[in-house]
Amino acid sequence: MKKSCKILLLPGDGIGPEIMEAAVKVLEAVSKKYDVQFEFQEGLIGGAAIDQTGSPLPEETLKMAKESDAVLLAAVGGEKWDDLPTDKRPEKGLLGIRKELGLFANLRPGKAYTALLDASPLKENLIKGVDLLVIRELTGGIYFGEPRGIEERNGEKVGYNTMVYHQHEIERIGRLAFDIARGRRKKLTSVDKANVLEVSALWREVITNLHSDYPDVELEHMYVDNCAMQLVRRPKDFDVIVTGNLFGDILSDEAGALTGSLGMLPSASIGEKHALYEPVHGSAPDIAGQGIANPIAMILSAAMMLDITCKLPEAARDIENAVDKVLEEGYRTGDIWSPGTKRVNTKEMTELIIKHIL
Ligand code: NAD
Repeated sequence: MKKSCKILLLPGDGIGPEIMEAAVKVLEAVSKKYDVQFEFQEGLIGGAAIDQTGSPLPEETLKMAKESDAVLLAAVGGEKWDDLPTDKRPEKGLLGIRKELGLFANLRPGKAYTALLDASPLKENLIKGVDLLVIRELTGGIYFGEPRGIEERNGEKVGYNTMVYHQHEIERIGRLAFDIARGRRKKLTSVDKANVLEVSALWREVITNLHSDYPDVELEHMYVDNCAMQLVRRPKDFDVIVTGNLFGDILSDEAGALTGSLGMLPSASIGEKHALYEPVHGSAPDIAGQGIANPIAMILSAAMMLDITCKLPEAARDIENAVDKVLEEGYRTGDIWSPGTKRVNTKEMTELIIKHIL
């Protein structure tokens, strides 16, 4: 019997439809090669949804998302919708779907491609071989903690927020991180600020307690300031990093920047029942409709989906290896082009990747 995976496609705005088409072509190639069937549905989100329904996240989209095994999202946003009030803007659709699907963990790999070492701001000997994953808690911490506000106290304004984590929230993301580390190089770095913050002391205690269930995984604790420094001094030493919402927001951007181009960075957001996969970059309105966008971040997001939701790690590795090979052969979209390499458009890049999969 054929395995199957039900996927909701949300192309969104700008370059979204172009890169989504690329990812679907790659998935169709995977379907041919492996014994797997993909059932695609397409929905509206962001500006495209506002234009057709008046809402950046129509009910119908949410319903389809909840009935799917995974959501593959390209990007939302653009100038056309920039003047709308905040709660009606395309980005609201993104925040809304993440919240409604209960996506509590965000996974952002940072991998150095040998062919793109020049694109890194770090020296080649530091960046070569980097392959890490930042797991950020997404639904708790200081971004959501109460009380919060700005108020007047003793004749001056005071702003305040609350960093709060419940034991079950730390356990949930901790287990996910240990499980993922187990499937990689078996090293987990838990990042906190336990020397100053009580919430971090609890984070450290809970993660340490979980470790007894994962004796095969090496666990280290690191303060966030030290981690920010070590990421640029010795990024190769990291495998999986797990941390809270605020620290993860910052460290995942830092880790992404280590390897160079935005057009190469995939991500996954995982919940108890649902998962959403999307490139890190936005809708790139400056190049939309020209057929020149880099489809790799989108294609690698689809690979993460195959790995995590569809349980097809061989197919995921196949796609990653195909991307490696095409880059090694010297093919580049405009955003990663450098003198001496061969410039290709979105469709050509996609076909080259598919050739290495089949
Ligand atoms: P952006 O990521 O869209 O673009 C930044 C720069 O990188 C641009 O020059 C763009 O051309 C380039 N770029 C990005 N992805 C590329 C790709 N795949 N191939 C080639 N070049 C690529 O960020 P921005 O310009 O700040 O934002 C544009 C719009 O996207 C805004 O409306 C913003 O709100 C939205 N946005 C959406 C998301 C999302 O959907 N997750 C994320 C960030 C920004």
